[in-house]
Amino acid sequence: MTKSEELFQRACKVIPGGVNSPVRAFGSVGQTPRMIASAHGAYMTDEDGNRYLDFVGSWGPMILGHDDPTVREAVIAACADGLSFGAATRREVEMAELICSSVPNVDMVRMVNSGTEAVMSAIRAARGFTGRDKIVKFMGCYHGHSDALLVQAGSGVMTAGIPDSAGVPQGCTKDTLSAVYNDLSSVERLFEEFPDGIAAVIVEPVGANMGVVPPVKGFLQGLRSLCTKYGAVLIFDEVITGFRLGFTGAQGYFGVDADLVTYGKIIGAGMPVGAYGGKREIMERVAPVGPVYQAGTLSGNPVAMAAGLAQLTILKEQPEIYDELNKKGQWFYGSLKQIVEEAGAAVQVNSCGSLGCMFFTAEPVVDYASAKTSDTSRYSEYFSHMLSNGIYLAPSQFEAMFLSAAHTREELADVLELVRSFMRG
Ligand SMILES: *Cc1c(COP(=O)(O)O)cnc(C)c1O
Repeated sequence: MTKSEELFQRACKVIPGGVNSPVRAFGSVGQTPRMIASAHGAYMTDEDGNRYLDFVGSWGPMILGHDDPTVREAVIAACADGLSFGAATRREVEMAELICSSVPNVDMVRMVNSGTEAVMSAIRAARGFTGRDKIVKFMGCYHGHSDALLVQAGSGVMTAGIPDSAGVPQGCTKDTLSAVYNDLSSVERLFEEFPDGIAAVIVEPVGANMGVVPPVKGFLQGLRSLCTKYGAVLIFDEVITGFRLGFTGAQGYFGVDADLVTYGKIIGAGMPVGAYGGKREIMERVAPVGPVYQAGTLSGNPVAMAAGLAQLTILKEQPEIYDELNKKGQWFYGSLKQIVEEAGAAVQVNSCGSLGCMFFTAEPVVDYASAKTSDTSRYSEYFSHMLSNGIYLAPSQFEAMFLSAAHTREELADVLELVRSFMRG
């Protein structure tokens, strides 16, 4: 038995499923999780000493690669000053100033501890601001595990959410309406049915939790127009896209204005950080200036802020990182596409910048229903082929690949060769 297997057996006795988040389980790919001991640059090493080229990057935060020395030193320096004070600190101010001075439409920002919390709080702010209850989300988009957002995905528009998890009362999801990603008419229908009832539309500007599904031309702009027309708040959930597509996130990348934006992942550089921010008139509804209550004992934690601030400062000062990352993504995913075409494989390659994924289906993937046509058993085979050759991919079809600044073109070229050999069978 490997050390990973031994640890996993122990874990299963004391942690549900042996993991602290279901996405870490390897069940859907028929394996047991590798227990990761350390990570540097583009590589992770497990407890057995196996080394993997990592395409998960902690699900996004490690855009500079693992263990960036500047980030590490900033964390060590912050630790020496004490781990938490439960009081206002300089680094929180610097973090807020950095974001508000760089990102369009973010006049004010509030730090929280996870993406889930950021989204939950942004929705509360939007409801408090509009005095309306209903929210629109898209099937296949993930916005964290708060009750109101765990709704079942159906095959079409749904005007009242059905809980997608045990333990979520009906009452918590009845105001969550579901629309079809990349289908503006599905959103329009909901607005026509509830013209004065919808507080917010929340969207992943690039779908990255059903595999990668980029927005079709006009989709995000259309959401902007509909929200403006009906007086609803447009929330971009940029927990993945924020500071990844570019420093100004999807708003800047696609040139569409949001009213509220949520962050997580990259903003904490690997520490548990989330944030929500946006237009002043909405953010001034948040306590203690406004009536929308939201709080957090460890929010804006000084060590977490030090990590995030160090990473964001590097990204802001070296915009060429994004140019290179996005070019690398275009080349890598473009090459993947060529490989599957040459092999005549029933595979779709979707990508946006450094995010991408392969769907094992003959159908173009533009929304949740088409993503679901993917042959997940074929993905398992692909995953196992790659893992046994030292490539660590997401252990699920419905996740993204995350390229980082630390992945070299030489390493990526080797990965392409492995994919080619897999496609040839
Ligand atoms: C990861 C993710 C979240 C939830 O963030 P957590 O930090 O896991 O709570 C929310 N929205 C999107 C788009 C995400 O990818």
